[in-house]
Amino acid sequence: AAPSAFAYPDTPLFRQYLGLRKEAGEAILFFRLGDFFELFGEQAELASRLLGVTLTSRDKSRPDPLPMCGIPAKSLEMYLPKLIHAGYSVAIAEQATQESDPSGLFPRKIVRTVTRFTLLEDPSREEGAPQNGVAVVRRGEAWGAAVLDVTSGRIAVWASENPSDRDLLLDFLGRKEARQLIVESSEIAAEFPGIPSLVHSRLAPFDLSGSLPPSYRLPELPEVSRDAVRLLFGFLSDYEKTVLGHLRGVVLEGAGNSLALDRWTIRHLDILPREGMGQERGRAASLVSLLDRCRTPPGSRMLRSWLLAPEADVNEVLSRHRVIRGFDERPRLSDRVDKVLGGVGDLERILARIAMGNRLHRDLPEFRQSFSSALDLLDVEGLEELFPGYGREFGLRLHTAPLRDLLARAIVDDPPPVLGEGPIIRDEFDEALSGYRRIESEGDRFISSLEERERSRTGVETLRIRYNQVAGYYIEVSKAQAQKMPADYLRKQTLTNSERFTLPELVSFEGSLREARSRVLAREAEILGELGREVLAQREGIHLLSDFVARVDVLLSFFEIGRKMRYALPDFVPEGEPLVIRNGRHPVLEARMAPEPFMPNDTDLVAGEFIVLTGPNMAGKSTYMRQVALIVLMAHAGAPVPADEARIPPTDRIIARVGAQDNILEGASTFMVEMQEVARILSSATPRSLVLLDEVGRGTATFDGMAIAWAVSEFIHDRIQSRTLFATHYHELSELARRRERVRNQTVRVSIRQGRPLFEHRIVDGRAEQSYGIEVARLAGLPEEVVGRASEILGFWEGGAKKTVLPKERTLPPDRDFSMPLFSWKRRLEEKKGEGMTGMNEREGKE
Ligand code: ADP
Repeated sequence: AAPSAFAYPDTPLFRQYLGLRKEAGEAILFFRLGDFFELFGEQAELASRLLGVTLTSRDKSRPDPLPMCGIPAKSLEMYLPKLIHAGYSVAIAEQATQESDPSGLFPRKIVRTVTRFTLLEDPSREEGAPQNGVAVVRRGEAWGAAVLDVTSGRIAVWASENPSDRDLLLDFLGRKEARQLIVESSEIAAEFPGIPSLVHSRLAPFDLSGSLPPSYRLPELPEVSRDAVRLLFGFLSDYEKTVLGHLRGVVLEGAGNSLALDRWTIRHLDILPREGMGQERGRAASLVSLLDRCRTPPGSRMLRSWLLAPEADVNEVLSRHRVIRGFDERPRLSDRVDKVLGGVGDLERILARIAMGNRLHRDLPEFRQSFSSALDLLDVEGLEELFPGYGREFGLRLHTAPLRDLLARAIVDDPPPVLGEGPIIRDEFDEALSGYRRIESEGDRFISSLEERERSRTGVETLRIRYNQVAGYYIEVSKAQAQKMPADYLRKQTLTNSERFTLPELVSFEGSLREARSRVLAREAEILGELGREVLAQREGIHLLSDFVARVDVLLSFFEIGRKMRYALPDFVPEGEPLVIRNGRHPVLEARMAPEPFMPNDTDLVAGEFIVLTGPNMAGKSTYMRQVALIVLMAHAGAPVPADEARIPPTDRIIARVGAQDNILEGASTFMVEMQEVARILSSATPRSLVLLDEVGRGTATFDGMAIAWAVSEFIHDRIQSRTLFATHYHELSELARRRERVRNQTVRVSIRQGRPLFEHRIVDGRAEQSYGIEVARLAGLPEEVVGRASEILGFWEGGAKKTVLPKERTLPPDRDFSMPLFSWKRRLEEKKGEGMTGMNEREGKE
């Protein structure tokens, strides 16, 4: 409903309020009144419901009272995230000056508009998850995107001239874990369902570089991506200017510097914790949650980005290995590093908050602590050898050490968390400040001596001089004593049991003391502001330092998980050599199953090899395929891998379409979607790709499905020649191995124990003889009656068409006689099989 749906009083204050509501647009307006943010009208109703604060109303006596609610300004951080996560944005209107205009009204303006993108005050955030917004623009056929992670201040830019690349754009958004889109129109928003979007149309000039340090100048970029950056800047300067204060340059995301993972692959391999799944389960089941033992949030973020965009440059990977080996060779080093890292916290994020500048009294002390620990890392004995030249190269110590001293000299050791509850800046740091403080403390002495004096003058031993916010200073005595007071005592306030007085002396003193107090606060705020600017001026060095911390943290994590789970550092072999894995394991499943043993498997894939993997459900096919992909991926992230040995040939992308069951749950697994995915795979795979396909063609009738699976296999094998693992229920596909040289059949071994199949989860050459579906059904708890009946029916089928009727015991209901359709279906299968094979034989001229 529009604000006008309620009767707002026609006063200057509410005219101002309604003006700001208009300016805020869709956003919920937090209107600062004294120590509270107030909300009115339908926004008050909404917020009181979402935030659980009491709804009251203004002017209850009227027939249509105006709903209102308020939240204490100092608890903003507690309430903001709730509204933002519920999908709203919040415009914050603050008092713009300390002086009211002649009518008594304070000018107010919207200082920031908080969105999912710019919410930096969220204690509930998952550590390591990026906090980003992506501006997406379309120009004719071209797409451009610019993503800013507000926490780190990094901007990555993506561009494409080809309209069909919208799909690649979706991959980019997936890789960046896009949280919020900024688009120019709702039509564009509609192209990206599932990601919350805000429509904004003002483009800022591209050259905001004025606000960037020289080394962060904006690079030459394709036209569309420049526009995306301009839209991003336009949004930020209209909504959250403060963010611009800590930007750190723009990187154009090119193909080729990382292994390509499309968004489906990222999902199928469970790299990230699933959203929406109970957090615990989601965490336990993802690669990120297994590997992330980082002690700092920047470490967690770097680890995530290394896994989502695995490094293509083997030299970079090898330099990561050197560090991991270094930890291994220097037994005490990892403990020392661990200890220092524990004190660092989120240097980048604190920097971002300092740029926002609205709670420097908390952020600067936090920064001092974090920054100082980060610098300590540079001094950890033995670490520098692992990072030859790192410290020197950036001149980190040189550049930033004075800042450490400055902060140490300026800020007291234990500053109070609330402004005005004690000193934040040291006396010695600033003369003016110490002058005001002297007046303040002289004041305290003056009060106690005045108290002494008045006690003896009046003879009232219980006389007290007190202070409160409302009344200021006063002299308090009991009712009974009040009569005895001398004539110069001025009555101030009468309470039930006591009387409050003041003295001319106290009145004049109070004025100067109050002034000194507010000067102290103002001066402290000024100094905090200066220190904040000082910190931001050094942001290049701080960013580099934070990157260094993150890198050490990730590599230490890799080292720790590798040692704990007995991983090995992989070797990288030249083009043409086989992909070899000895005793490979699925990292996440292995960790989750421990101490139960996980069955390791070997992998040997020569270039262009195509494995047809058959085997019963639950035998371990998709686990095996995922493990091969994860090992290659982890290898390129620079991590040790869950295997005794791994030799990885050059790989340009990993394509996984495994475990499509999840898609069914989401209702997304229509046959059409499946085929679209397959089409993408066929168009993007190369001979250097690793392709994993599970059950292609399952979404349609058996014959179509098998025909498609067959044709897809031929195409990949003959034309694309990627290394491929293809799991299928169409045992007919095993035939391919007899027709194609590089096709090999593998299956999962099943042994029989006491008449029951036992899944060994061991991958062996050969083809599956049986599918054991009925056994799996029994394990799943299907009633014995159903399982028994299924065995009978199966027996009938496997007996072939000779038997013309189904077994009669447990007669089928007469009105549902499906024996014929079943029978004819079986016969159709036989016929088609014959046809298919002959057709193919002729075409191939083989066998
Ligand atoms: P499929 O894809 O053949 O249906 P999955 O790969 O989903 O089978 O595996 C089914 C279950 O079998 C897994 O959830 C896991 O509990 C177990 N499993 C699979 N592979 C292994 C293994 N190598 N070692 C131990 N258990 C395994």
